[in-house]
Amino acid sequence: MTSDLTSHQLTAARAAIPIDYHPIEGPTQQLLVSGEQLHANACLYCGTEQQLHTAGHAYTHSSGLAWVVVACAAHLALGRAEVRAAALPVEAVEPPLG
Ligand SMILES: [Zn+2]
Repeated sequence: MTSDLTSHQLTAARAAIPIDYHPIEGPTQQLLVSGEQLHANACLYCGTEQQLHTAGHAYTHSSGLAWVVVACAAHLALGRAEVRAAALPVEAVEPPLG
């Protein structure tokens, strides 16, 4: 047991769990999430617990288990927009609403 490595990993990891996130649309992303986020109790991006929708699934690196994960409506839309924006020129600016 090397205590140096352990303390570094604990400091860096804290509540963050490394996952491979497979969105419904778009490429796999590497994210660090909390237990709440992993258990579909909070938005994968901002951690809100409101207006959550299924956003695909994730695999934890440690166990390889698959988890259904969720995102809030705003981030679900944003994720899809980012996927499209990557393939398009920069002109895709949404008009302000109301
Ligand atoms: Zn969110």
